[in-house]
Amino acid sequence: MCGIVGYVGRRPALPILVEGLRRLEYRGYDSAGVALVDQEGLWVAKSAGRLYVLEQQLDFTAPQTRGLGHTRWATHGAPTEANAHPQLDASGRFAVVHNGIIENDRALRKYLEQKGVIFKSETDTEVLAQLIGQLYDGNLERAVRQALHEVSGTYGIAVMCTFEPDVIIAARKGSPLIVGVGQGEHLLASDAAAILAHTTQVVYLDDGEIARITPEQLRLTTLDAIPVTKAVEEIEWTLEQIELGGYEHFMLKEINEQPEALENCLRGRIDLAEGTVHLGGLVDCARELTRARRIILTACGTAWHASLVGEYLFEEMARIPTETEYASEFRYRNPVIDDGTVLIAVSQSGETMDTLAALREGKQRGALTLGVVNVVGSTIPRETDAGVYLHVGPEIGVASTKAFSGQVAVLSLLACYLGRRKHMSAASAMQFITALSQIPRQMREILQRADEARAIAERFGEHNNWLYLGRGFNYPVALEGALKIKEIAYIHAEGLPAAEMKHGPIALITEGMPVVCIATAGVQYEKILNNISQVRGRGGSVIAVATEGDKEIRRLSDHVLYVPDTLEPLQPLLTVIPLQLIAYHAAVLRGCNVDKPRNLAKSVTVE
Ligand code: GLU
Repeated sequence: MCGIVGYVGRRPALPILVEGLRRLEYRGYDSAGVALVDQEGLWVAKSAGRLYVLEQQLDFTAPQTRGLGHTRWATHGAPTEANAHPQLDASGRFAVVHNGIIENDRALRKYLEQKGVIFKSETDTEVLAQLIGQLYDGNLERAVRQALHEVSGTYGIAVMCTFEPDVIIAARKGSPLIVGVGQGEHLLASDAAAILAHTTQVVYLDDGEIARITPEQLRLTTLDAIPVTKAVEEIEWTLEQIELGGYEHFMLKEINEQPEALENCLRGRIDLAEGTVHLGGLVDCARELTRARRIILTACGTAWHASLVGEYLFEEMARIPTETEYASEFRYRNPVIDDGTVLIAVSQSGETMDTLAALREGKQRGALTLGVVNVVGSTIPRETDAGVYLHVGPEIGVASTKAFSGQVAVLSLLACYLGRRKHMSAASAMQFITALSQIPRQMREILQRADEARAIAERFGEHNNWLYLGRGFNYPVALEGALKIKEIAYIHAEGLPAAEMKHGPIALITEGMPVVCIATAGVQYEKILNNISQVRGRGGSVIAVATEGDKEIRRLSDHVLYVPDTLEPLQPLLTVIPLQLIAYHAAVLRGCNVDKPRNLAKSVTVE
């Protein structure tokens, strides 16, 4: 998910690699490393943290003209020096940098350990390095090919070895790689930004392809060794355009990344055949979780909204009494924790100060603690008994979008995991996870119609007061929609359970006030239609989010944004997207700084 740079040519490689990594910093990363290669051996430097920490250990006069660099966004093992890439095999002669996730790493690790291999890191990547080292018989390309036939998962990789120091073998499946073509040199990168300073002539690798790269030659084949011919293309983008992947802001990029982010989040965790869910991070406390009698979800902001969806999911699917607590309240209010209480801390960064304090409070009182976190190796996962990572990739925009859907997806998996251990039949679990696996495709459909959300923002962007109404699983989405437009467009908005409106907030409704009503198909559909008429009766403008095919809603509301049909508990993953888009476009139209809204920080590490 993070950054790869490679160089084989005539110039000293180190400055090129480090500069390339610096160009990739914008993507977010937690550790970095480089390896230089010649006949004598591999020369490796790695460090946790920022690139400048790595740079302090480097001798920029190193003469080697071949090497690899990597910025890591940890998925398997904390961001430590040992887990940073390049990962080496046991002989120290093979170096691998990898973006992505090897799904069957546990099985392969076990197999290699039985053969006597001793692992030095916790990464899935080392498995690949060790495997290549074992399979090598004089041809690096062949060894990589054979190793890749053994692995499942996603990868963009680059491999070098001391026996063939002129050669980089690169391969891709689900994680981008491009080869830059220069004079007597080739560069490799996961992102054009890393090589643009040296060349604009590139070849894009496609999934299932392997490149053999030397200073003079580039040879492409498929995984099964069938030759591939490809034209060299010219990059026409500027560096800034590349960083944003053609989007105007990171927030918009991240909204659009949600389908792919969810695919990564769900990968290897859904077992359609067995109707069950596999969560590696919970293996050690599976028995204790089965005996859970009460769940407390604790979080702040957007993560609190995702947690509220989690509460509904856990009660519905696992029949475990659940409550969602603001971390800042929980930590100071002498909470009751009894036997069988599980405390789940939900945080994108894993560093949110209030959530961390709530976690410590719960732990001290004897709760089993879990983390639902995006940043691997951050403080919350270090302090919890177990947990599940989001795997949605780095989130750079301050307003959280793909982390919200990642959190909801992980909590859905967790609800199914717990449900299966309690009351849920294999058949209903199968129905649930089948629907969950279709969400990324359905998200893509919604994103294709993004213009409709933009039109709403254009029509109502001037209004300074909005209401968001939802019921059941969509009530937390109403809260999240309101928070988004507050955070980035500086519009005052309130999210409410739709029925609460008549107990007070209805007094606010005036002619033309925008009221977003989430009215998707479900048990409370008729009820929300009543709420819609109440709003219209007072002159409010209703913007409905409804299920595709619902014609009636057109008659009852002023504007309709459709989302595809799914099971009710999964609707938040779809209904949130139009609301994210409305907030984004309203902010752009109002001239706000979308990625860095005023007064806000990405990770709130203060009370
Ligand atoms: N899964 C690998 C790791 O955790 C690669 C992470 C990345 O994409 O940066 O080391």
